[in-house]
Amino acid sequence: MNIFESALKRLKQAAKYEKIPDWFLTSLSTPERTIEVSFPLKRDSGNVELMEGYRVQHNNLLGPYKGGLRFHPNVDMDEVKSLAFWMMIKNAIVDNPFGGSKGGIVIDPKKLSEKELERLTRSFTQMLSPNIGPEIDVPAPDVNTNSKIMDWMAEEFKIQSSKFKIKYNKNELKAVVTGKSVGNGGSLGREEATGLGGFFILEQLIKSLSLKKPLTVAIQGFGNVGSHLAKILYQNGFKVVAVSDSRGGIFENSGVGFNIELVKKCREEKGFLAGCYCIGSVCDLAEKKKGGIVSNEQLLELPVDILIPAALENVVTNKNASKIKAKIIFEMANGPVSAEADEILNKKGILVVPDVLCNGGGVIVSYFEWLQNVKGERWSLEKVNKDLKNKMEHSFEEIWKIYQDRKVDLRTAAYILALQRLSQKINP
Ligand code: NAD
Repeated sequence: MNIFESALKRLKQAAKYEKIPDWFLTSLSTPERTIEVSFPLKRDSGNVELMEGYRVQHNNLLGPYKGGLRFHPNVDMDEVKSLAFWMMIKNAIVDNPFGGSKGGIVIDPKKLSEKELERLTRSFTQMLSPNIGPEIDVPAPDVNTNSKIMDWMAEEFKIQSSKFKIKYNKNELKAVVTGKSVGNGGSLGREEATGLGGFFILEQLIKSLSLKKPLTVAIQGFGNVGSHLAKILYQNGFKVVAVSDSRGGIFENSGVGFNIELVKKCREEKGFLAGCYCIGSVCDLAEKKKGGIVSNEQLLELPVDILIPAALENVVTNKNASKIKAKIIFEMANGPVSAEADEILNKKGILVVPDVLCNGGGVIVSYFEWLQNVKGERWSLEKVNKDLKNKMEHSFEEIWKIYQDRKVDLRTAAYILALQRLSQKINP
């Protein structure tokens, strides 16, 4: 089963519990528009390479298409289709007036200079310009993209709009992408929103399950999502005992947990987490507690209370699901658990909290950013975080109620909620 089929399987599963016409289910399973572009990138050396990029606009029943852009060598159409589909589900769950889309370029941005990265981003924006816009499709950051890239996109979109005499006012022009820097119309709180949103859900979950802190946590992925969440959990009484990035990670064995602020500082200095093993206080902690270096595969199998995949999809599959020892898998990455693995984990009694709920904080604050831009407003960090908390908690409560009433797993409960919201728009 490829990743897109695996994604759709969850929708079909949930549809068994709702009265959904077949044509509507097929429509929700089919991308409305797939865009494939190729364009030249001039390297600093003078060489020219042909780049390949995608944008999938899955569905806009609930509002303009909305979804991130990923720059990664493994990006392909199936991955982008899955990510766009999940954005539709996620926006429905968190009750955002947005549809689902996603995009990406097949590239390892770490191998590009800053100038090359800017040329790449601007060329891609030129290719996408006829199909994006504040009321059409609104990109945002994802893996290996950030506020600087979003600022370049917003600026390039403005240039393209004036070239083609498309009239947007100043506010609307900013709303073409979210996740911009604060100085360029970005929202306060957007950068940490996905991690913070995940924390709000985790707090609700442990309350609902009557679990007591301290709980041990292993986190795979230490980028925007993983590193912010790790810090928030550390500050709120969780014991983060393992963290990793693409080059592996570190763990400690006593359950006391790392000081994530020190780990973050060390990673910034060293460039990768495994390089932090045996550096100053990070080493003291790891060594005294009989810790060490851990591979990404080993991290998934550690005996912790909560495992948090926060990197890429398909890391828990039918090959390793039976070896997972965590009691809860809390999906901060999109699609980290395959459909086959879900079945094995359910049988083992491991609670999987689905991506479409856990990581919805990012797109919620993206919505707040879009709203601030179109209305010409500026919200305080306090307001952003309070409204984020309300929206996350409300989504959790609705899913938890379906979970208890219908006696389904949490992922199915989340998809049932999404189907209920999307079905309100049935209009053949
Ligand atoms: P990022 O680029 O900031 O960080 C990705 C992290 O994953 C890095 O630490 C990287 O080293 C690590 N990584 C890459 N390949 C890996 C591998 N094979 N094994 C282990 N670690 C690996 O990306 P991000 O924005 O933090 O996104 C992470 C996940 O969260 C993705 O699935 C993304 O779709 C999802 N997500 C992101 C947002 C957001 O607001 N950025 C919102 C919702 C969901």
